[in-house]
Amino acid sequence: MTTIDESMATEAYEVIVVGGGIAGCFAAATAASAGAEVVQLERKSADEGGFIACGDAIKSPTDPKKYPGPIDMDAIVSDEAVLADGNIDRIEWWDEELSVRKVLPYDTNSNVIDRYEFGQRLLDQAGDLGVTQHYDTVVNDVVQNGRVEGVEAIRDGEPVRYEGEVVIDTAGAQSIMQDLVEYDALDAPGGVTFEKPHYTHFGSAYREIIETEKPVEYANAIVGKPLEEMGYIWYFPRTDRVINVGLGFQMNKEPIALADRLKRDLASRPEFDRAVIDEKFGKKNKLGAALALRRPLDSMVAPGYLAAGCGAGTTHPITGKGIRGAALSGYSAGRTAAEAVADGDVSESGLWNHNYYLYVEHGEGTKLAARDPFNVAAGSIGIPILRAMTAVLPEEELREIVGTETKLDDLSAKLSIGLGVLKNVVSHYRSGTFEHLDVSMGELYEALSGFRTTRTYVDTYEDHYWAYPESREDYADWLAERNRIDEEFYDALDLDSSERKYS
Ligand SMILES: Cc1cc2nc3c(=O)[nH]c(=O)nc-3n(C[C@H](O)[C@H](O)[C@H](O)COP(=O)(O)OP(=O)(O)OC[C@H]3O[C@@H](n4cnc5c(N)ncnc54)[C@H](O)[C@@H]3O)c2cc1C
Repeated sequence: MTTIDESMATEAYEVIVVGGGIAGCFAAATAASAGAEVVQLERKSADEGGFIACGDAIKSPTDPKKYPGPIDMDAIVSDEAVLADGNIDRIEWWDEELSVRKVLPYDTNSNVIDRYEFGQRLLDQAGDLGVTQHYDTVVNDVVQNGRVEGVEAIRDGEPVRYEGEVVIDTAGAQSIMQDLVEYDALDAPGGVTFEKPHYTHFGSAYREIIETEKPVEYANAIVGKPLEEMGYIWYFPRTDRVINVGLGFQMNKEPIALADRLKRDLASRPEFDRAVIDEKFGKKNKLGAALALRRPLDSMVAPGYLAAGCGAGTTHPITGKGIRGAALSGYSAGRTAAEAVADGDVSESGLWNHNYYLYVEHGEGTKLAARDPFNVAAGSIGIPILRAMTAVLPEEELREIVGTETKLDDLSAKLSIGLGVLKNVVSHYRSGTFEHLDVSMGELYEALSGFRTTRTYVDTYEDHYWAYPESREDYADWLAERNRIDEEFYDALDLDSSERKYS
């Protein structure tokens, strides 16, 4: 928090959006369309805005339930440069060492886009919808006095103070705003509800855009492969010769030298012989960043402050996909901020609808939170056992883990999956998979039974998140019960203290 320097240039707006990524554009565009005076601050230049480390995979971009608000996704998708051509029809999981190849078809096609072009279109639309955009503006401090009242930044080398009714934090994973705000010093009855995330809840990821000499045979699939730590390597084809290749792992594990590890992987694949890394802005097109691998924050609001996007944990906790979560949480933050400004109430109660929308009204927050137990469970078993388990789990069951829409309620589906596991165990036993991984049948059985236990808790968590309180007054009780479920789940899996993700 800063001490006020009266001589600093000051500008005033109703809503200040920090960040020009997906959440920032959805938030700014939505608040401006609802009539608020909005400024959007982005540290990059106007040319480089939207150039962000990403695997670039995006599903159903024109579905208004997934991308709500005034941003015209049809117009973006129909722009050829964005490359949203629906080329992806399946996910594939390859464990080459074990000769495992799982194919998970999509019901409707997905896309691997040019994320820079996509990001530029979002920024253009936000500008067209009335947002004032300041590029080359690095936010480096927060102004607070009972509530968050603004930010300080360096714009084109000069210090500027931005004052506002509400600040929307969309500065991405491990947002600097969350280090700068002194949440405990804000005025909220009974204490501020905002949950500050821990760094171990994030992952680190890196990607390159590579051009191969010849078309790859998996041009219609996004491919994942295991890593020695919790995470995966990916090949996501934009076209049959331009591939987004990358890898990511969770920060509660030993760090991996990402670029070297990727290089070693690519060297093992003949299609990448003589492949070249694309260039962007006169440099090799390679980027790394953090991303959230946790459930959405318990509460994303504080007085005068809302968080959305990766910094609010709206990423899928297993796959790391966060474009959709960023868009709809950005929309929610923008809508809530504009309403709170119009109502003259930017307290936590006045901003509460942001939490409620994500968990209940829209529901994506609940679906994401209900996938997090799989992340907790997977983090507690060794990688060889995890690989053995992935090898024996049938495709339908894997789909349930990596998606948010599949749910295996039906008894006959569960039975056929049980039989599928049995068949796969027998065939992998014969082919020597478990011996190769040095995994005993006892260890595999224990992991599978932990997985079954986890599935029952997925349902328990989902029911509890659907009951997220509509008003702030009921939050403490809801949170106490959620924390009780956490402890019960950790006990059921017999986790030690280091594996209890949120304790
Ligand atoms: C390598 C990698 C691969 C991924 N692959 C996929 C994928 O295939 N599909 C998918 O759906 N998701 C994927 N994700 C996740 C997805 O990219 C993020 O969830 C999404 O970008 C989050 O959007 P956001 O708007 O919250 O944050 P960001 O996109 O990170 O935007 C934050 C913005 O804030 C700006 N900013 C930060 N600090 C400041 C400051 N102090 N002052 C001013 N501006 C600031 C940044 O420059 C940036 O423009 C991946 C993430 C990574 C790292």
